[in-house]
Amino acid sequence: MRSVLDESGIQLTKSLGQNFLHDGNQLRRIVAAAELQPTDRVLEIGPGLGPLTEQLLEHAGEVFAVEKDLRLVTLLEKRLGAQPKLRLLHGDGLEIVRANASDWAGWKLVANLPYSVASPILVELASNVHPPERMTATLQIEVARRLMAKGGADDYGLLSLLVQLRFEPKGMFKIPSGCFFPPPDVDSACITLVRRERELLPESLRPTFVRIVKRAFSQRRKMMVKLLKQDWAVEQLEAAISELQISPLIRAEAVTLEQFVRLTEMLAAP
Ligand code: SAM
Repeated sequence: MRSVLDESGIQLTKSLGQNFLHDGNQLRRIVAAAELQPTDRVLEIGPGLGPLTEQLLEHAGEVFAVEKDLRLVTLLEKRLGAQPKLRLLHGDGLEIVRANASDWAGWKLVANLPYSVASPILVELASNVHPPERMTATLQIEVARRLMAKGGADDYGLLSLLVQLRFEPKGMFKIPSGCFFPPPDVDSACITLVRRERELLPESLRPTFVRIVKRAFSQRRKMMVKLLKQDWAVEQLEAAISELQISPLIRAEAVTLEQFVRLTEMLAAP
């Protein structure tokens, strides 16, 4: 990798999270976790020098790779441009997934994500009307733990809920920082998220869910009911809390996804 970069005179940009995965074993584990079929369409955000892209092209039917750094796009075009299965786009992956009209239902995300935008990219995809079937993403290990966390756990919070409303976390494995060039300051992990077969809430109620969880976690140490009083009538909240059989003193971090779903249904009712 170093020689490829030296030959093309590319100096890495830290702000773009340019830590390239050079460990073949970890790349194979990521592809195995993605459970690709030969007909699959894969979205890869941040292909970098293309080590994962190459593996994806071997296992999937189509790869749409979005890279923000034009120097890397040019390099990738030279290396992999002849591959008919590859569509390479110079662009911002976050903007691409934010585009309202996009339908990712028939897609799988497989990416070693740039750290600065990893969480927003996953939240955007999870909030899409048509989210991807599966997301296999490599990101900072602490973010992976938050994505996996269940109610009551230390890492549980807004990110866990926004993604888990639509996706079930299936597992994660650690990728030590030494597997990357240059090694980042923290370890990484590859997480697998699978789209829920049955939606927990209809599309019409999802904005209320987001409003509730954002408000409930706006001050982690405060009682949830006190925070929600800013947006909902006390009587409505008291009725909901009593039906859920949870303490009025409870903090958001102890409330499960299923309880937030039920709370949404009750608070959204006229
Ligand atoms: N997939 C490669 C690998 O595994 O070695 C590179 C992963 S590296 C962690 C992240 C890549 O994302 C870099 O190539 C970087 O230039 C690119 N990138 C950063 N921000 C981006 C964005 N907003 N949209 C698309 N690509 C981005």
